Amino acid sequence: MNPILNQLQEFTREPKIAYFSMEIGIANDIPTYSGGLGVLAGDTIRSGADLKLPMVAVTLLSKKGYFTQEIDERGRQTEQPTLWEPSKYMTLLPSKVYIQIEDREVAIQAWLYVVKSLTGGSIPVFFLDTDVEGNSPDDKELTSYLYGGDQAYRLKQEIILGIGGVKMLHELGFEIKKYHMNEGHASLLTIELLLRYKRPIEDVWDERLVWDVTRVRDICVFTTHTPVEAGHDKFSYDLILKVMGELIPLSVMRELGGDDSLNMTLLALNLSEFVNGVAKKHGQVSQSMFPGYEISAITNGVHTYTWTCDSLKRLYDKYLPGWANEPELFVRVGRIPDDELWAAHMEAKKVLIDFVNIETNAGMDYETLTIGFARRATAYKRPDLIFSDIERLEKIATGKIQIIYSGKAHPRDDHGKWLIEKIHVIKERLKGKIKMAYVKNYDMEKALKLVSGVDVWLNTPLRPREASGTSGMKAAHNGVMNFSILDGWWIEGHIEGFTGWAIGPSPTESMLSNNIEEMDKRDAEDLYNKLENIIIPMYYTDRHTWIRMMQNAIGKNAYYFNSHRMMRRYVTEAYIR
Ligand SMILES: *Cc1c(COP(=O)(O)O)cnc(C)c1O
Repeated sequence: MNPILNQLQEFTREPKIAYFSMEIGIANDIPTYSGGLGVLAGDTIRSGADLKLPMVAVTLLSKKGYFTQEIDERGRQTEQPTLWEPSKYMTLLPSKVYIQIEDREVAIQAWLYVVKSLTGGSIPVFFLDTDVEGNSPDDKELTSYLYGGDQAYRLKQEIILGIGGVKMLHELGFEIKKYHMNEGHASLLTIELLLRYKRPIEDVWDERLVWDVTRVRDICVFTTHTPVEAGHDKFSYDLILKVMGELIPLSVMRELGGDDSLNMTLLALNLSEFVNGVAKKHGQVSQSMFPGYEISAITNGVHTYTWTCDSLKRLYDKYLPGWANEPELFVRVGRIPDDELWAAHMEAKKVLIDFVNIETNAGMDYETLTIGFARRATAYKRPDLIFSDIERLEKIATGKIQIIYSGKAHPRDDHGKWLIEKIHVIKERLKGKIKMAYVKNYDMEKALKLVSGVDVWLNTPLRPREASGTSGMKAAHNGVMNFSILDGWWIEGHIEGFTGWAIGPSPTESMLSNNIEEMDKRDAEDLYNKLENIIIPMYYTDRHTWIRMMQNAIGKNAYYFNSHRMMRRYVTEAYIR
């Protein structure tokens, strides 16, 4: 028998938890992710495999990726498809399933990638693909672009993921005991489950009872990631009827997903027994957005081994053997001698600075306090907050800091693109005073270089819009100091002057202000004050305290904000109930 099919049969032997995500960051050269959500999904699966959890994962192939970013000398972003060859990494399976789209039958095939852990655990990941012979040219493109196209394209992708995904798992012979929806993109899987568990009409006294909502709820788990109303996917019922048809009666759909349009978050909330936000604060914010639902919180984590750079890996191997599969061992970080910790950090810093100089010609050096800011380029992340008062920044920091940026703007996010241009303009203006670089095509590999090679990781989101944030956790794994707004995970990880520094007021205080300009001003003021009076002086004149804080970031933050802890919480609070 074909070894792959043999392996597949092995996987179907025990019941699984099925993890559904529109994007998954499996590896750097598999471009099926756009940012934090996809990288989290990858870390979820990597920790799941390490812990030998009985899981499978389902996602879309995204054959042309998210996009490849070009930036011209003025900072203008353009996008190209990212071409990659799935057959280099995964195996195409012979099985096919079919879904209805606009009255056509669309065939879906799946590619198998197996995430293997050194512990012996492994998790199969199925990448759904509509580039199947017999499908129309347009339908073949439905799994090409991650977050591409219009509303109809998005809806079709969500039908493929949710409905096609459940069908595929069934076709491959899996028995699924829990379905975990990573964000509302996967919510349509509940519709396929309702159809599967439909009771015969002659068994019920009210025809609405053919839909066994309780049974579906019992096996569904939903994680929401979006703390703002506009972030939730919604589709008009006209579009639903046109694209998906009336798979279940419209009246039932409206009851479950909202009266005026189908809200994917609401659909998942109504059909999941366990619902969670991705940090404590985000759980509360979500709870107030959806009163009447019970929303818990499981704070995100990052995969410890993936997000530790080589020089620190060697150090941890020496002083904390077993750390990668037991991040709790970071509690003993104090055993690492100061000079060795600093040397390992400087090694990571050299790797980054050399890379940035080759990529951008920025002429950065190893000695200057280096600040990193890299993530999706979009308005709420406020990448320009540090430039609110350029003259003040020049006064405080000329010759004392250098700043490295990276990040893509979504092709339709004009404000995000404008921010990239703005940073390029400021880069020119600060020439000869503060060295700056913008590294294009942010991805997982560049993220690791950045979060380990800078001295300070800066994050300045507008509260409460950072549901969790995970890049700061990656920084902590490498002993890099966080300097961040108190939002998302940092509310839980921050101890002032101990694990890092806060920017701006406490979360309770900041909730009192609805005035964005006022908030920007207060935050920038605090940023400048701490940079001038605490961070720059400590870096150059009190290395001892700085290294103590690096240890605290590892011993307190990496110790806790890792995906091993996160997955154990999912198991005990969501999967086994
Ligand atoms: C970790 C990561 C992110 C998430 O960054 P945040 O600052 O938490 O938004 C985005 N993109 C890539 C490539 C990452 O590795």
